[in-house]
Amino acid sequence: MRKQSTLEHGIVTRIIKALRAYPHVVVRKRHGTAMGVTGDPDLYGTINGRHFEIEVKRPGDPSSQPTKLQEQRLQEWAAGGAIVGVARCVNDVLRILGLVRPEPVVRWTCEACRQYTWEGADAPARCPNCGHRHFDKQVVAA
Ligand SMILES: [Mg+2]
Ligand SMILES: [Zn+2]
Repeated sequence: MRKQSTLEHGIVTRIIKALRAYPHVVVRKRHGTAMGVTGDPDLYGTINGRHFEIEVKRPGDPSSQPTKLQEQRLQEWAAGGAIVGVARCVNDVLRILGLVRPEPVVRWTCEACRQYTWEGADAPARCPNCGHRHFDKQVVAA
């Protein structure tokens, strides 16, 4: 196991901190020792009883890619049923573990004719029914 860069180490620390907010998640940093398996991912843990393995790479550095061996280890874990992924930030991990909250669904209703509704993050430019440009906003799911 190669020594981690300072940048990668920082992101590992932030990921572990962020995951503490989730009581159904246990996460551990894998320490590189002579007893360890070379290329095994940086983080491992469980979410709702499902094992996960995450390789952490330097943020904002496309040259920082998993090695062939690291890719192989991730595939081994995946074949064993683990959730696996490569992360460069906290959000990557939340995405890999399915912890990212979905965007709220907003329903827009034409203020003028009240006949036209639209669901999406942004209001439509104008009502196709009457041409009005103002819409009532209602959050239907968060
Ligand atoms: Mg790494
Ligand atoms: Zn309208």
